[in-house]
Amino acid sequence: MEGIEEKVFMLERGELSFSKLEDQLGNPNLAALVRRKYLERKLNVSLSALGSTVLDFKELYGRNIENPIGAVQIPVGVAGPLKVEGEYARGEFYVPLATTEGALVASVNRGAKAITMSGGAKARVVKDGMARAPLFWTPGVEEALRFKKWAEANVEALRAAAKETTRHGELREVQPYVVGNLVWLRLVYGTGDAMGMNMATIASDRICKYVEENYDGEAKCIALSGNMCSDKKPAAINRLLGRGKYVIAEALIKSQVVREVLRTEPELIHYVNAAKNLLGSAAAGSGSFNAHFANIVAAVFLATGQDAAQVVESSMGYTWTELRGEDLYISVTLPSLEVGTVGGGTRLPTQREALSLMGVAGGGEPPGTNALKFAEVLAAAVLAGELNLLAAIAAGHLARAHERFGRAKH
Ligand code: NAP
Repeated sequence: MEGIEEKVFMLERGELSFSKLEDQLGNPNLAALVRRKYLERKLNVSLSALGSTVLDFKELYGRNIENPIGAVQIPVGVAGPLKVEGEYARGEFYVPLATTEGALVASVNRGAKAITMSGGAKARVVKDGMARAPLFWTPGVEEALRFKKWAEANVEALRAAAKETTRHGELREVQPYVVGNLVWLRLVYGTGDAMGMNMATIASDRICKYVEENYDGEAKCIALSGNMCSDKKPAAINRLLGRGKYVIAEALIKSQVVREVLRTEPELIHYVNAAKNLLGSAAAGSGSFNAHFANIVAAVFLATGQDAAQVVESSMGYTWTELRGEDLYISVTLPSLEVGTVGGGTRLPTQREALSLMGVAGGGEPPGTNALKFAEVLAAAVLAGELNLLAAIAAGHLARAHERFGRAKH
């Protein structure tokens, strides 16, 4: 305790900074305690709840966090069983959702029940690739086009350069874009079970070096990320070309299930989807035509140690419905779902347990299959949440309006 008090005093006297504590104490858990004590005294607050955690900062320091002081806890609820018939995910799944939004877990749970009773959700990953787009300066359009041509003709060499940096990563596509004298190479990688952003960045850095050493013209890499990637920003390029997993989940919900579980009618859900998700989103100028993908994506991301900022693009997408005889067809398409089962926050103990609940913790056999399975289950959970919210709206306001102004009169 003496050493701890001494370090707190040193912080107070300005003789030590937060970032030096780990070096001084040789123990990140003690460093976290010193920071808390210092802040508690300075700000006259209690941080005992923040300090109460299962995390061992010796495992996380230098990888997942700097200047740690503790951890926040978010309640985790579970929805399911949810039957999924994917290419990789087959069977019934329980989905962990970390949220403080009451009714969210219940919403996904009721949607999951309706889907499972109707035979389950089909899910497929249509495309898989993490993009990083370095930006190159050239003196003018002529040289820009020459460089673009060179990159297209040298994909194999770029692929070999990337491969030097990773066992699981592989360059899959080079998508060049030219604006004025500037050229972006949107490099798309297979990243195995990792979400892949570090992997793609390290490999792209190697490719930039290769370009500078081997291209005989004038092309200088001025930014390793030129925002054409596009990471943590909503962007049309990701919606069209995909980033991470481009995944679709669909189900045919039996009319009886719509009535008994969701307490509404297939036609009303279909109408709400058209009026709200399609027309409403179009009128608002939105690039995303869904009711609440972000609710489910964010809650699963937090529970399973995904990069929370990537909820931005991972929750873009479309909900589509059709009436099929008496029944309701519904699909969700998420073109930019960025998920991994290794790397980043997936190694933290609670997040890893949440992944294991879905049977997707760690590397898959063969590599990549766990992340694909996870994407399929997550898309099916988004489908469940979307179905339930549309049904609740249809059963509430719309049903009342319908009763008053529509069918009830006839
Ligand atoms: P990572 O932990 O940096 O890389 C994955 C690691 O796991 C690699 O060392 C890989 O080895 C290894 N690995 C072992 N088994 C694997 C398997 N089955 N599949 C794939 N890899 C396997 O994780 P990442 O997904 O690339 O990056 C995620 C992190 O990047 C998150 O913390 C996120 O917050 C952060 N991030 C970074 C940037 C950036 O610009 N750098 C941007 C956004 C987010 P090999 O490489 O040898 O295969």
